[in-house]
Amino acid sequence: MQSETISQPTAYEMAVHNFEAAADALELSEDIRAMIKYPERILTVEVPVRMDNGRIQRYVGYRVQHSTARGPAKGGIRYHPDVTLDEVKALAMWMTWKCAVVNVPFGGGKGGVTCNPKELSLNELERLTRRYTVGILPLIGPAQDIPAPDVYTNAQVMAWIMDTYSMTKREGYPVPGVVTGKPLCVGGSHGRNEATARGVLHTLECACEHLRLRLKGARVVVQGFGNAGSIAALLLGGHQSLIIAVNDSRGGVYNKDGLDIPKLMLHKERTGSVVGFPASEPISPEDLLALECEVLIPAALENAIHGENARAVKAKVVAEAANGPLTPEADKILEGNGTFIIPDILCNAGGVTVSYFEWVQNEQHLFWDIYDIQQRLERVMKTSFTEVVNLHVDRKVSMRLAANMLGIGRVAETTAARGLYP
Ligand code: NAD
Repeated sequence: MQSETISQPTAYEMAVHNFEAAADALELSEDIRAMIKYPERILTVEVPVRMDNGRIQRYVGYRVQHSTARGPAKGGIRYHPDVTLDEVKALAMWMTWKCAVVNVPFGGGKGGVTCNPKELSLNELERLTRRYTVGILPLIGPAQDIPAPDVYTNAQVMAWIMDTYSMTKREGYPVPGVVTGKPLCVGGSHGRNEATARGVLHTLECACEHLRLRLKGARVVVQGFGNAGSIAALLLGGHQSLIIAVNDSRGGVYNKDGLDIPKLMLHKERTGSVVGFPASEPISPEDLLALECEVLIPAALENAIHGENARAVKAKVVAEAANGPLTPEADKILEGNGTFIIPDILCNAGGVTVSYFEWVQNEQHLFWDIYDIQQRLERVMKTSFTEVVNLHVDRKVSMRLAANMLGIGRVAETTAARGLYP
């Protein structure tokens, strides 16, 4: 999503930039910064895969643990052609602050394999996943580091990881707590699949209350129609918001009177894209971001909104379902225009929150029903929003800085209390 002419900051540069701003605002000492800023562990693995044609194709994968100060590392696994170590380091760092914002006892981690899963058969995807899992075995485990789904990985991929770990580490019996986002039948949790989107909905409800805006009837634009984006659109449609445009990697669709999201989800399932949906007109990625609307939900990849296109954004609220969709330059422009930003480490934290619930259920062998999950999730999201917005108002800082101050402040506090080995 980077501009072809002007180079945008890398994801890790953005993460470090935002860390330093929060550390300055918190007046953290250089010693504490040195202890919490850098990744604790970085693993790069070779992933040779036997393809369906009998040949070996080589892939490269990563697992980064940014912090285990507050608990086991937690974070998704991404399969995408643009995965780099820089990106995985940034995503792991954001996970550390995110887990602290919602106050779950996890640190931050992330993983990825540089590959194009759309070009792999199901069998090739399974072999790649199992081989990658063997590569990262030294790091993962229910008490050390717990992966989850991210871009182009899903519950099935988590089931393969769980199975591979269980076969190799524990002589054959299942260890469901090693991953979250699993299918229900292998120890997954009710509500995990929709958790990120439900969290987006709750933070939007809070933001609208804070801004005295009405979510009912609000025009919503969604960039990225995957797990986070499509379910957010579905839930908001259920709250009578008008989803006027969405897109995915292949193109976008627009209808000023609102798209029928359940039908659009079926269309995407059948055809692989939102493109060509009846009762809609095509829209380019640039025009989609520039639409007149109340709410814009970036739900694709990093750097989607940057110095070159931020001025075109007209939304009153930007809800960051994706991680890192705004560059620091875009932040400045949107804040200057009075746009209210719900920052990623708050907005999309519903996913890791229900991942935490799933892990607790696995560890206790005691399962909760969907009502328990939804109530607990709503409480966590609304409490976290209140804590961030209070800092935003009291300290007169941006929502992003407020969220980073809350998360980074908690990690700094734990680190200072624990001290260092001599
Ligand atoms: P996904 O693989 O389910 O969906 C990604 C979607 O983005 C797909 O529809 C894809 O076509 C679309 N996309 C890719 N490139 C695009 C582009 N250039 N323009 C428009 N659309 C594009 O992934 P997901 O799990 O929904 O993750 C999306 C974002 O949300 C990521 O930033 C991820 O880190 C973040 N996130 C996801 C979760 C989760 O639980 N799934 C939790 C927190 C944050």
